[in-house]
Amino acid sequence: MLKCKQIAEHASDYLEHQQTWSQRLAWKLHLFMCVNCRRFVKQLKLTCAMCIDKKSPEASDKEVDAVMTKIKQ
Ligand SMILES: [Zn+2]
Repeated sequence: MLKCKQIAEHASDYLEHQQTWSQRLAWKLHLFMCVNCRRFVKQLKLTCAMCIDKKSPEASDKEVDAVMTKIKQ
């Protein structure tokens, strides 16, 4: 049985599906029985989703040209 500490240390592997099926099964079993780790993984998943949504906006070609023109002046 996995310990809560192991869940916290390898949570990113779980979220990125970088585990074998037996490791994943052990995770699912622990999360089924441990409300604290279930909350932790849920919060981590939400945090990751928010970080992906907050990508920096890209500048248009016109904006890049305007900046390059000012740099050259
Ligand atoms: Zn736990």
